[in-house]
Amino acid sequence: MICIPITAGTKKEALHAIERSCQLADFIELRMDLIEDGSLAELISTARNSSSLIKIIVTCRKEEEATSARGAAGIKGAGKKTIDRKIAVLKEAIELGADFVDIELAEGRAVIKELQSFCAKHRRKTKIIVSYHNFKETPALTKLKEIFHQCAKAKPAIVKIVTFAKTAEDNLVTLSLISYARKHSPEIISLCMGDKGRISRAVAPLLGNYLSFATLEREGQSAPGQFTVYEMKQINELLRSKRAFPAGPVLSLPLRLQNYVLLGNPVKQSLSPLMHNAALKKMGIEENYSAFCVDDLGSALQGIRGMNIRGASVTIPFKVAVMEYLDDIDADALKIGAVNTIINENGRLTGYNTDWLGLILTLQEAMPVKNKTFLIVGAGGTARAAAYGIMKEGGFPVIANRTPEKGKILSGKLNCPFYPLAEIGKIKADCLINTTPVGMYPKDKSPVKAVTLSGYKYVMDVIYNPLKTKLLKDAEKQGCHIFSGLDMFVHQGAQQIRLWTGVEPPRALMKKVILKRLTQSE
Ligand code: NAP
Repeated sequence: MICIPITAGTKKEALHAIERSCQLADFIELRMDLIEDGSLAELISTARNSSSLIKIIVTCRKEEEATSARGAAGIKGAGKKTIDRKIAVLKEAIELGADFVDIELAEGRAVIKELQSFCAKHRRKTKIIVSYHNFKETPALTKLKEIFHQCAKAKPAIVKIVTFAKTAEDNLVTLSLISYARKHSPEIISLCMGDKGRISRAVAPLLGNYLSFATLEREGQSAPGQFTVYEMKQINELLRSKRAFPAGPVLSLPLRLQNYVLLGNPVKQSLSPLMHNAALKKMGIEENYSAFCVDDLGSALQGIRGMNIRGASVTIPFKVAVMEYLDDIDADALKIGAVNTIINENGRLTGYNTDWLGLILTLQEAMPVKNKTFLIVGAGGTARAAAYGIMKEGGFPVIANRTPEKGKILSGKLNCPFYPLAEIGKIKADCLINTTPVGMYPKDKSPVKAVTLSGYKYVMDVIYNPLKTKLLKDAEKQGCHIFSGLDMFVHQGAQQIRLWTGVEPPRALMKKVILKRLTQSE
């Protein structure tokens, strides 16, 4: 995973850098010792609005470090931050829901404890990074191990140890610390700064370093020796590529050995294994996505941890129930109230929802979403994902459902109108989306009467088997622009692979294999 530190000196530059970085990286680090006139609330909300997947680290470093970073990034000014000010900034970050705050070991156990207690008291999920930076040298490995244990004693989520490389051999010290630290509980970030330390930045991801730091622009380094995000991505892809290192023992570690599963009940009908295995094979990863029909969800998740399975798709009926078994839930999935994707980072399970994005990307390929009204038929998990995505993109959902109580609960949560299914004719909207299973193979049924469709320009069915449901056939006859659930299915699956591997999957191929299977069975 790649983190871009935001080192801009002014708020305006920082906001611009955040918007760009959120499209390129997995994490951003807000260097509040450098962004002098920045309101943390505005910086965090800009990041969240730029990407639902971005993780945010907030840091307020020592003056010595700020000076070094300012020098590298060409930033003038920025005053000295006292420890009280630093604690206040990090507490504000915790209140604002930053994913991580970084505090130096040198600030002392009491300060680290104070931040941990603040998280607990305010029931925030923000995690603590305890860091050690040495700008002069790389201490011997025995010394670094001691420092690691001092950091780990505070029970942070991540220990970060960054030293200055005076010689190429210093890289071996920080890299050795990674394998040592990985036998202990917190995640580790261990690398060398400086030109001679670049090797450690390139090799550390292979050994299990939690994060790589990279810059947006060549001149924006927050620490000497950083690669640009583009270079770091190329390095990561090279390290993952089987072609680059055919059978080396080192490369047997990451992608190649990863396994993925589908958890559901039933799963026999699912086309996810066909689609995901085709994509993984093309990406040079062995075909290792398997479907499991699950009876005991808790045990299944223990299995994922125990067998070090990298990722899981979750389908009916577990999308809501699975949430209680996870260590972390991404902000979008939390707001939707359903998880369809799990990432396993060394036993720590994080839940995501890719259904909403799959639906939005499908809609956006055919029509604008902003300022358009969407009638969503149904009030289940898919309806929630659809309504959330539509609102996030500036559209207006209207809910219609068979069971009024369930529909009203959803419309109440979203603060949008609700109509019983019987009164659907009264609604005026640009697009109708069916999120019920009505019309799924083998039943040729529609959840709405054909005459109702004449007022709609667009009609979408989330069902993809059959490709053209009765609803879509009726809509086509009424002159509506129609789209099936196929593209949504492919987009949500592609997003799952992106989350698990960090690599862009072959979406055209994924669509082709599903299309072939569905047209064969029609
Ligand atoms: P869910 O949570 O069980 O919700 C189903 C909804 O459909 C409920 O609101 C239910 O209404 C309504 N419904 C069920 N039977 C009905 C009927 N006979 N008449 C009218 N309304 C009916 O299910 P879900 O997880 O949202 O999944 C719904 C569909 O979306 C499934 O077919 C699934 O395969 C599909 N899906 C497709 C994709 C894709 O990528 N294309 C992704 C996710 C899901 P009540 O409240 O009255 O029970």
